[in-house]
Amino acid sequence: MNRRTFLKTSVLGALFAASPISFSAMGQATKKATRSGKLNLSFEPYELQLRHAFNLAKYQRTTTPGVQVRLEYDGLVGYGEASMPPYLGESVDSVCRFLGSLDLSQFSDPFRIEDIMAYLESVAPNNRAAKASVDIALHDLLGKIMGQPWYKIWGLNPDNCPNTSFTIGIDTADVVRQKVDEASPYKVLKVKMGLDNDKELVEIIRSKTDVPICVDANQGWDDREKALEMCHWLAERNCLFVEQPMAKERIDDTAWLRERSPLPIIADEFLQRLPDVRRAAEAYDGINIKLMKSTGMHEAYQMAVLARALGMKVMLGCMTETSCAVTAAAQLAPLVDYADLDGNLLIANDLFDGIKIVDGKVTIPDRPGIGVELIS
Ligand code: MG
Repeated sequence: MNRRTFLKTSVLGALFAASPISFSAMGQATKKATRSGKLNLSFEPYELQLRHAFNLAKYQRTTTPGVQVRLEYDGLVGYGEASMPPYLGESVDSVCRFLGSLDLSQFSDPFRIEDIMAYLESVAPNNRAAKASVDIALHDLLGKIMGQPWYKIWGLNPDNCPNTSFTIGIDTADVVRQKVDEASPYKVLKVKMGLDNDKELVEIIRSKTDVPICVDANQGWDDREKALEMCHWLAERNCLFVEQPMAKERIDDTAWLRERSPLPIIADEFLQRLPDVRRAAEAYDGINIKLMKSTGMHEAYQMAVLARALGMKVMLGCMTETSCAVTAAAQLAPLVDYADLDGNLLIANDLFDGIKIVDGKVTIPDRPGIGVELIS
């Protein structure tokens, strides 16, 4: 079964295996077939193909393993997704094992988000992307039951969505120039750093465009004095902030840098979930929230609210993901200062229509739930 077929049919595959059914027709059939009042979870691995090899300070890759999730309840389907970049420690096996161990049929009321997320925590620690896939599907389902997108349910104004950055990875000068050309619709560029030619990379970009850049060192800067020198150099070149300049363990050095840097210092690898936000405030000016770290939308919303209450900057990021998880994240975009929601644009085999970037700005679809539709 190909992946789109899975997403359309999954559990119903057994019931309607012989005859292909259009999605809308299947929706009708689903209402009759699964009006059980039980949550029914199904999942399927889906490998994401990257448009360009992804070069970070410490490794390179051309695919990202993922798992697509369906959550059915009373004739409606919520979609979710887990994306597992290797450095986060989850895999297709671990996600499928976690999801396969769940029994969501015990929940007759899908609105018990707190209970359901507490159950996921009780099954096993960590497994953050696996938990996020269930959380996203649950939010999609609940939004569809309520007939509203989550930004409206949260009371957020979509006009407040920031511009998204578009990532320019570490690469040869010619490829960087090509990527900058491809990124011309975007009003902010994100630059991955952490190699010896960091300044050269910025100079190449600056030879092509004056748009603001934000810098992600991915823990690649080893010397705090050099990191400070880079912050000053970047501040003179229209840089907005520096993300995770040094190793996440180097809290004192990062606090030292934060005290002196003309640019805000944003935590990414340093933090994962809600309890980490308060710790991050000791050494960083802001946090980068990602659904695959936070276990999904429920905790991501809480993290954003807490960080703002602590006076911190809030950035919203993503992994390489289909438009499913990226559009789910976009529901939070009106709450944040910076958005880095280009993960779906970096893959060649998206499954969903969802978030759009209009004139550089994050634009959330006016559809219920997380706002996605399967690409047929
Ligand atoms: Mg980062």
